[in-house]
Amino acid sequence: MEKRGEPIRVTRSSMPPFEEYAAMIRPLWDSRWLTNMGDLHQSLEAGLKEFLKAENLSLFTNGHLALEMTLQAFQLKGQVITTPFTFASTTHAIVRNGLTPVFCDIREDDYTLDPEKLEALITEETSAIVPVHVYGNLCQTDAIQEIADRHGLKVIYDAAHTFGVEVNGRSAASFGDASMFSFHATKVYHTIEGGAVAYRDPALAHEINGLKNFGILDEETVALVGGNGKMNEFQAAMGLCNLRHVEQEIEKRRRVYERYRERLSGVDGIRLCPKQPGVKMNYAYMPVVFEGYRLSRDEVFARLTERDIHPRKYFYPCVNAYQCYKDRFSPEDTPIAARISREILTLPMYADLPVETVDEICDIILE
Ligand SMILES: *Cc1c(COP(=O)(O)O)cnc(C)c1O
Repeated sequence: MEKRGEPIRVTRSSMPPFEEYAAMIRPLWDSRWLTNMGDLHQSLEAGLKEFLKAENLSLFTNGHLALEMTLQAFQLKGQVITTPFTFASTTHAIVRNGLTPVFCDIREDDYTLDPEKLEALITEETSAIVPVHVYGNLCQTDAIQEIADRHGLKVIYDAAHTFGVEVNGRSAASFGDASMFSFHATKVYHTIEGGAVAYRDPALAHEINGLKNFGILDEETVALVGGNGKMNEFQAAMGLCNLRHVEQEIEKRRRVYERYRERLSGVDGIRLCPKQPGVKMNYAYMPVVFEGYRLSRDEVFARLTERDIHPRKYFYPCVNAYQCYKDRFSPEDTPIAARISREILTLPMYADLPVETVDEICDIILE
C-alpha cells in the first residue's frame, strides 16, 4: 500500500480561507474592542440564533461554561439525572454546581438516555434531567419531556454534538428548557473554542448573560455570583466565517459517512447507529460497535494505530468509572453504558477525509 506520510486523526478542524478570516478580524485593529460583547459577537449571536432556530441564545467562551452557568441560572437543588455515556464536561458541570448526578442507563441502539429507566430514578430531591444527544443522535425528547412535566423537572440538553441537527424541520435547539452547544475546534462547527446556550424562557436572559460576565449588571451593580464565560472577537470572527461554510462541510461529511455505511453495514458483529427517521443529520461522529466480531474493539484499535490511523475509544471509560468519581458511583449501575463503552470505537470523521482513506480504514477493519 502507498505510504500516506501523514497520520489520520479522528478529526480535523474545518478552516475558512485565510483571507476571509483576515478580512473579518481587520477592523479590530481600528476598534480595539477585542472582547465583552463586541460587534462580531453580536453579529454571530444573531446569526446562530437564526441558524439554530433558537428562541433565545447566548454565546460563551466554551461549551462547558455554557452548561455550567446554565445549570446555575436555573438555581437547581439536590439531584440531577444524567447519562454516564458522555464527555467529562456533562457530569463535571453538574458536580461543580454542588448538585448530585444520578446516572440513568442508555438505549442499546442510539446510546442516548433511556426514558424507560428514568422514572425509577426520580426522588423528592430530583430537580432536573440533563440528557445528551450523543454523536448527534437525538434523545427520546417527547418521552423525556412527558416525564419531566409530570414531576415538575427542568430539562437541560447537552446538545454539544447536534449543531444543525433537525427533526422534521424542528431544530435540536428547541427541546427542553435549554440546550448547550459546543463550538470547540473538534466539533462540526467551531469558533476555535466556544459554545452557546439556547433557552426557552426569555426571562432567563438576565441570569445567563449576567453569569458569564461576573454577574455585573451595570457599573455599580454586581447582582450575581458569576464567572467569566465571555466569547472574544477573534472567536466570533472564526464563527462568522465558518457559519458561511458549515452546510457545505456537513454535506462533505455526509459522503464520508455514506461510504463508511456502504462498507461496514451488514457485517456480522459490527453495529452502526440506525438512521433516525425524519432527522437531518450532521455526521458529527462515526461510532462503530464491535459486538461478537472476530476482533475486539481493542484489537481493531491496535491494528489501526499500527497503520498510523487514530480512532478514539469515545466514550471510554464511562463517567461513573472515572477515577475522580470512584468512591461515589459504579459503572455496574448502568450495565448497557458500561458494555457499549468497551465495544465502541469512533472512526476518523471530518469533511476533508478522502474516500480512499475511508476505504483503507474499512479494509484494515475487515481484512
Ligand atoms: C465537546 C463537549 C462538551 C464541552 O464543550 P467545550 O466547548 O469543549 O467546552 C460537552 N459535552 C459534550 C458531549 C461534548 O462533546
